[in-house]
Amino acid sequence: MAARIIDGKAVAATVRRRVATEVEVFAEERGRPPALATVIVGDDPASEVYVGHKHRACEEVGIRSVHHGLGAATGEDELLGLVGELGRDEGVDGILVQLPVPEHIDPDRIVAAIDPAKDVDGLTPVNAGLLAHGMPGLVPCTPAGVMELLRHEGVDLEGAEAVVVGRSKLVGVPVSRLLLAANATVTVCHSRTRDLSGTCARADVLVAAVGVPRLLDGDAVKDGAVVIDVGVNRTDDGLVGDVDFEPAAQRAAAITPVPGGVGPMTVAMLLVNTVAAARARV
Ligand code: NAP
Repeated sequence: MAARIIDGKAVAATVRRRVATEVEVFAEERGRPPALATVIVGDDPASEVYVGHKHRACEEVGIRSVHHGLGAATGEDELLGLVGELGRDEGVDGILVQLPVPEHIDPDRIVAAIDPAKDVDGLTPVNAGLLAHGMPGLVPCTPAGVMELLRHEGVDLEGAEAVVVGRSKLVGVPVSRLLLAANATVTVCHSRTRDLSGTCARADVLVAAVGVPRLLDGDAVKDGAVVIDVGVNRTDDGLVGDVDFEPAAQRAAAITPVPGGVGPMTVAMLLVNTVAAARARV
């Protein structure tokens, strides 16, 4: 295998250590640690696992976290009420409503109701708009994690050809905006893209955020490219990414593994955002 493996766990650990120091300084200055409120509606086991990880990570760096677990039958108005209350709560710096919410609730309405100053997932229309305008705001955690990995690897994005596969509000679009802000030449592919493999094969930096196991094979990877695989897909062979790792690693200069690549960065950047939100608010 030719490619260097990008160790997301190690980079995330470095970020978490930095956050722990920032939390200490904040707590000393303000007399309290930053605080994150999480909300889950229903009993989706994956959501429980993700939020559990987030609380443990908060605890590890000294961020106070409070969880609100609501029953699956909770109505939209009740959830909006809680989101509004958390927005007014002076002791809460970050609000995270874990998606998906049950079908009878409109996730866009809930996200839009989060106080943008406490929107540590960076998903509100206000923060998405700030990102689109190149203005400072809270950036979605996974795209922020992708950029941190590229920075850590010393990847020169200036004028580089970047191809992002996926155009979701959560990953594809924000990561493409961040790459553009870093002066890369950005192409965004999606399910209607005509020559997916050929387009990807132009990329100096290839970011896959699709949700289709091993969609991109070795032919989609240019020799010497940096490959960031955001995909997390459960298969009979265990967790795999959107990139077929072995053939891609034969051609790439550097590649993230799944698991152990982008995943750990998402939680680390949530901690970064919580401290940033706390600092900006007070
Ligand atoms: P999503 O909302 O389902 O979006 C998927 C995107 O992929 C869409 O834009 C879709 O195109 C595109 N797509 C689907 N099939 C395609 C195909 N055959 N060829 C080209 N494009 C195709 O997913 P997401 O929320 O962005 O998540 C993407 C992946 O990242 C998932 O595996 C998810 O589990 C993972 N993820 C990981 C983390 C982490 O922390 N590691 C965080 C978030 C997400 P259209 O727009 O045309 O439908």
